[in-house]
Formats: sequence, C-alpha cells, structure tokens
Amino acid sequence: VEDNNGRGLVRLIPILLAVALIGFTVIKGCQRGPFGRRQVVKLNAAQEASLGAQAYREVLSKSSVIEGGPVVGAVKDVADRLEEATQREDFLAATELKRQRFSWQVSVVRSREVNAFCLPGGKIVVYTGILPVCRTDAGLATVMGHEIGHALAHHGAERMAHQEIANLGVMAAGASLGNMSDRDRVAVMQALNAGAQFGILKYSRNHESEADHVGLLLMATAGYNPQEAVKFWERMSRATREGSTPVFLRTHPTHETRIRDLQKWMPQAMKLYKASGYTDKPKLLPQLN
Ligand SMILES: [Zn+2]
Repeated sequence: VEDNNGRGLVRLIPILLAVALIGFTVIKGCQRGPFGRRQVVKLNAAQEASLGAQAYREVLSKSSVIEGGPVVGAVKDVADRLEEATQREDFLAATELKRQRFSWQVSVVRSREVNAFCLPGGKIVVYTGILPVCRTDAGLATVMGHEIGHALAHHGAERMAHQEIANLGVMAAGASLGNMSDRDRVAVMQALNAGAQFGILKYSRNHESEADHVGLLLMATAGYNPQEAVKFWERMSRATREGSTPVFLRTHPTHETRIRDLQKWMPQAMKLYKASGYTDKPKLLPQLN
C-alpha cells in the first residue's frame, strides 16, 4: 500500500469541503417549486429580477425591436391576460405556486428566428419568426405560457444551483485522484464531467415538461382553450421537420411525450378554462408588414 494515513486524510479535505459547500448550497437554496416539488435555487427573487432585467436590456440593444402596430398590440394583449392569470387563486392552487410579484415587460423583435423566452422576473421577448407557427392568439398563449412557466418555476436559478453542485463534485473528485497518472486523471475527470452534464440535461428535460404543465394551466386560466396547445405543438413539430431545428426546440421534449402529457393534464386545464369565463374562439394574429 503506497498511501499512508496522513496522506489519506489530506486527500479527504477537498471532498469534505465540497460536501460542506454542497450542503450549504442545498440548505440555503431549498424551496418549494411547482406541484409541491422541492427545488434548490441559486438566486433569490431580487437577484433574479436584476439579472433578468440586465439580460433583457442586452438582448434588446442587439435586436430590431418593433415599437408599435397591430402585431405588438396582439402580443401585448396575450401577455396582459397571462400576467393577470398568474395572480389568480385557482391557478395558484392548481400549480401549488406562491403568488409572485414580477415586473412584467414584453417586446417583439423582428427576426426569422422561431423563438420566444421569458427571463427571470418577467421580461418577455417574442421573435416574429414564431408568429406564423402560433397562428392565433391561443397559439401565442401556448408558447408564452410555456416560457412564463419557466420563469414562475425559477428554472434558471435552479439550473445555476445544479451547475454549481456539479462543479463542486467534479472538483472534489479531481482533487482526490492524487495518486493517478495525469492521463488517467484527465480521463476520469472527463467521464465525471460528462456524467454531471448528463444529469443537468436530464433535469432540463424535466424543466421543459414542468413548463408545459404550468403553461397549459396558465393559458387555460387566462381564457385560452387549452386544446389549442396540442395544435400549436403539432405545428411546431411540423415546422421543425421541414427545416433546420429551431434553437427553441433543441432542448425541448420529444413531440410524442409532450402531446401525451398535455392530454394527461387536459381535464385539469379544461376546468380552469371553464372557470375563466372566456368563450371567444381563437383569433388569427395580424400579419406583419
Ligand atoms: Zn422551454
């Protein structure tokens, strides 16, 4: 045995440190997420809001923002209804989310990109390239509901916590591999890193599914027929098959899984839709000129 007790203990230090830091991160960031799920987050609401606002300004400064007109009006109408629905008692009860105060803002960017997102704290960006896929206000409510779902569920702050925990773990393991040759150590580190990244990817799929669920309940609460969500994702899937994969879909679940889950949540969503009092048919979005 090459190792003696002294060196063994020294080797344990980084592991013990990492365990302590991970424990601290978990305890400090632990909170209740949507549907009763426990989650660990890296940022509090104020930090999220300030990071979100900063990212929003950055994105807009590099984009061609449309200032007014019928398209922007239609997008703002959908955003208003969804934002209002986030405060509704029945929506909060169904999602098990706390009432949150976001400083909502929405911008429409002229771009062929099939994309939309909601930054932490409620800053929304819609790219005009996604509007033909949305087709109607209910289609737009589907994608905006999904994106707002990510923000309400603090998925960004959760991803940051996971990344930090993974990094600490990989670092500690690396430090404890002291008696390996450099080549072996690099190989083990690469494997550990890949494992950590795979864990994070798996988590991001769960986030997508959770955003679908929150989004479906949100659009229904806002008075958009949740059945339209199935049609929207079908159009989205077709749009993907026809061309190159839009950025938006690369991290999202497979079409079949998504439709099956939406159907599973549909009875819950229909109840919220009926309670919303809205009965209007989906309205075609105005054409961009
Ligand atoms: Zn998503």
